[in-house]
Amino acid sequence: MKKLALHWKILLGMAIGVGFGFLMSSFEGGGTIVGDWVKPFGTIFINALKLIAVPLILGSLIKGVSDLKDLSRLSAMGGRTIGLYLITTVIAVSIGLVAVNLIGPGKTISEQTRTELLSAYAGDAESKIAAAENQKNAGPLQALIDLVPENIIKASTENGNMLQVIFFAIFFGVGLILVPAEVGKPVKDFFDGFNEVILKLIDLIMLAAPYGVFALMAALVVEAPNADLFAALGMYAITVVLGLVLMIIIYITAVKVFTGKSPSFFLNGISPAQLLAFSTSSSAATLPVTMERVEEHLGVDREVSSFVLPIGATINMDGTSLYQAVAAVFIAQAFGMELSFAAQLGIVATATLASIGSAAVPGAGMVMLVIVLAQAGIPEAGLALIFAIDRPLDMCRTTVNVTGDALVSMLVAKSVGKLGEPHEQNWDDSYHHKG
Ligand code: ASP
Repeated sequence: MKKLALHWKILLGMAIGVGFGFLMSSFEGGGTIVGDWVKPFGTIFINALKLIAVPLILGSLIKGVSDLKDLSRLSAMGGRTIGLYLITTVIAVSIGLVAVNLIGPGKTISEQTRTELLSAYAGDAESKIAAAENQKNAGPLQALIDLVPENIIKASTENGNMLQVIFFAIFFGVGLILVPAEVGKPVKDFFDGFNEVILKLIDLIMLAAPYGVFALMAALVVEAPNADLFAALGMYAITVVLGLVLMIIIYITAVKVFTGKSPSFFLNGISPAQLLAFSTSSSAATLPVTMERVEEHLGVDREVSSFVLPIGATINMDGTSLYQAVAAVFIAQAFGMELSFAAQLGIVATATLASIGSAAVPGAGMVMLVIVLAQAGIPEAGLALIFAIDRPLDMCRTTVNVTGDALVSMLVAKSVGKLGEPHEQNWDDSYHHKG
């Protein structure tokens, strides 16, 4: 395995994991063995990645912002980042809406399947609806309030509060720019060194990636619901996946047009992060690897990536917004509802906001879908219709979420003259390409 590039090793781990999962599901008790003895290694791998997320954001963002040295550069980069994130999200929702209206997957669902799905997954749907309850009752400025933590230690203890940690890190970085250089130096030196250590930890964790994804995929296969349900939801799944593939094509085209880099350059560079996003269904867990790939293999300067990517992992979810648009209209179609043009425009707005509000963890997009449904007047119980197939689609949309972040980091870097040739920064490359 030593000479293989990292993405091949991860792919191999995934493929063997899927095969192993099927093998173990073929006999009685096999699933339990996987659950008891294999799945824990997948969980440990994800935990290790998540463990790094908060220190990584703190370290790299404080360093990134303070490296900017003046605040006008920060606001220029901030404006572009948010602007591009919004544009790509709106494009994604629009693609989702066009696809679901053209294909009409909800119209192909039989009355009987609908009733079966609704009764089989009513309980699961209820729990998602309950989880969305808080957000639904929130005032218009709640998102803004949530941005500012009242206690940074508390905010850092929950991976769901990434935006608060990001806020603190940027705020701290700004302070560091404003104090006299000689006063800030020891603090800056500390964070520089801190950062190096975190990056080293990511290298170490990535050594385990092929084995981690093996365990994750094997566990997913033995836990998957039966194949009949997948078939009933086939057209819906195909619509989501088609939209997501189109999004990837748009990214590749944008890379070519705006940076002149080839599709293979972009895809080879980002693929290990994509594979990890697919296996973990979490942009937050993938963040450490996204940062490493973008800096070292796509040529984005760390000054840009350390700012753009943590924010992107939390708020830029093109795949999720596309999925929310398709799912909302699919459920409406399945219930025989006609959505007006105005209602669909409303979906563009709510799916954009809902994807921003979705946490970067598995299944979060489905919780926020409740808000899109409520706003459009679509029955929330309809979540039960799409539950069975949500996990595989979550894997696909997370892959797109991460790819979108990588694209925007390249575009922002290009616009501020910080897109260079790929080079080893301080990342240790010992886990790939070495013989
Ligand atoms: N799992 C997705 C992510 O982490 C969010 C979602 O559920 O759509 O990016």
